[in-house]
Amino acid sequence: MSFSTLGLSNEIVRAVTERGYTKPTPIQMQAIPAVLLGGDILAGAQTGTGKTASFTLPLLHRLSSSDNSQDNSVQDASVETSRGVGSRDNFPIVNRLKPNLKTTGGYPRIRALILTPTRELAAQVQESVHDYGKYLNLRSMAMFGGVSINPQKQRLRNGVDILVATPGRLLDHVQQGTVNLSGIEVLVLDEADRMLDMGFIRDIRRILSLLPKERQNLLFFATFSDSIKELAAGLLNRPTMIEVARRNVTADTVSQKIYQVDHDKKRLLLAHLIKKDNWYQVLVFTRTKHGADRLVKQLGEDRIQALAIHGNKSQSARTAALAKFKNGTLQVLVATDIAARGLDISDLPHVVNFDLPNVPEDYVHRIGRTGRAGAKGEAVSLVCTDEQPLLAEIEKLIAKRLPREEITGFFSHPHPHKSSESIPEGRKQRPKGGYDQRTSARGAKSSPQTSPKKSAARTVAGGSKSGTKKPGTRRSGKRDAPPERRSDR
Ligand code: AMP
Repeated sequence: MSFSTLGLSNEIVRAVTERGYTKPTPIQMQAIPAVLLGGDILAGAQTGTGKTASFTLPLLHRLSSSDNSQDNSVQDASVETSRGVGSRDNFPIVNRLKPNLKTTGGYPRIRALILTPTRELAAQVQESVHDYGKYLNLRSMAMFGGVSINPQKQRLRNGVDILVATPGRLLDHVQQGTVNLSGIEVLVLDEADRMLDMGFIRDIRRILSLLPKERQNLLFFATFSDSIKELAAGLLNRPTMIEVARRNVTADTVSQKIYQVDHDKKRLLLAHLIKKDNWYQVLVFTRTKHGADRLVKQLGEDRIQALAIHGNKSQSARTAALAKFKNGTLQVLVATDIAARGLDISDLPHVVNFDLPNVPEDYVHRIGRTGRAGAKGEAVSLVCTDEQPLLAEIEKLIAKRLPREEITGFFSHPHPHKSSESIPEGRKQRPKGGYDQRTSARGAKSSPQTSPKKSAARTVAGGSKSGTKKPGTRRSGKRDAPPERRSDR
C-alpha cells in the first residue's frame, strides 16, 4: 500500500515522499481513509507510530480540496505559513487574493483546530503540518503560552487555516476576542488522555462550546481510560474506532533494562554508563524539576554536557535546549515528564529513567521517546530499593518482567530491618478527573513540599501569590504552565 492509494492528493504524496516515507504505517493505513470520509474518529495509537501524519495528511487533503479554502486566502508574507508552490490543477482555488469577509472583529475564521497538551508538542505538530502541506495553499500557526501574545494576534489577524494550540493560551485569545473559532470544520484532540491528566477538561469543554456544532472530530489518545471514554461519548458522533497497538505495551524495538542501584549512587552510575559506552543523545527523566536541575549540575561536575527542560524554565530556554538536543549538539537532556509525551527526536538512542515515574503509564510514554518509527533504542531505569513497588506496578502494566542488572560498587542489598527512604509524594494512580483541581492531586496527606497552600499558589500560573483566585482563573498571558504544574514538584 502507498500514500497515493490511500486517496491523498499528489501534493501531499510528494511532500511525504520527500520526507522519506515510502509506505504508510498501520495507524496511517486505517486513519487516513476514515478521516477522508469525513466521520469522527476515536484512535488509540502507541507513541511513535506515525499518528501525527495519520490525522495531518487527510486534514490537509480535506481542507485543500473543499471550496472554503478560498475564504482564508489572504496572502501576507509576515505570516508563518505552510503555503507552498502548490499546483492549482487538482485543487482549484478561486480568487486567491480575495480577502476573507467572514471575520469577527477583523479576525478571519480558522478552519481546523488541533489541541495538544504541551507547548513543545504544539510546535512539533505545527512543523509537521507545515512540512506535509508545503505544496498546498494553507496557512498554519502554533499557539502556546510562555511567549508574547501580540505576535500571535497579528498572525491571527492575517489569517490562519490550521491552528495548533495548547488550551490555555487559546482561551486567552478567546477572552481577548482575538481568535475566530466560528468556522472550525475539523477538531483534533491530540494526546487527549494527557490533556485530561493535566486537568484541561474544563478548558476543553469551554473551547468545544465555542465551535460550530457541525464539524469533524478526531480524538487521539495514547492510553485508554474511563475519562477518555467519557470525553469521547460526549464529543464524538458514531466514531470509527481505531487501535493499532495493544494498550499499555512498550515497542519491541526498545530494549529495556533495570539497574539496581543505591539511591545515593544513581548519579555516579549514570555518569559511569554515559562515559563507559560513550552515550550520546541521552534523554534522562527525573521526577522533579529540582532533581533535574541538580542532576544537570552534577553531570557538569563530571564533565558531561547537560541541560534541563521543565516547567520552571522559560519557554526560550526550553526551546533552545530541545533544539540543541535534537540537532545533536547536546549530549544529555534532563527532563521531567513534560518531555514524556509526543516529542519526536529522530533516532534517539538512549532514554534513562533516573527516577521511576509515580504513574506506571508514564513509563510507557517516557521510553516511547526512543525506538520510534521502527528504529532501535535502549531504555534503562535506575531503580533503588524504595522504587521496587513502582517497578512492580510498571511490570504489571506492561505485562513483562524487565531484566535486572547490578554493577559492583553501585548496589548493596539493604538490611532487612533498615527503614527505607520514601518516594516523595508517591502515588500509583491518577486521580479521577485528572491531576488538576488546582490543588494537590495527592490526597489528604501533604508533605511540607506539597502543602495545599503551596500547591494552590503554584497552580495559579506563576502569577498571583494571593492564593485567593478561583480555580481556573489564571491570569491572561500566563496560561499553559507545563504538565508538572500538577504532577511534578
Ligand atoms: P509520531 O508518532 O507522529 O510522533 O511519528 C513518529 C515518527 O515517525 C516521526 O519521526 C515521523 O516523521 C515518522 N513517520 C511518520 N510516518 C511515517 C512513515 N509512513 N514512514 C516512516 N516514518 C514515518
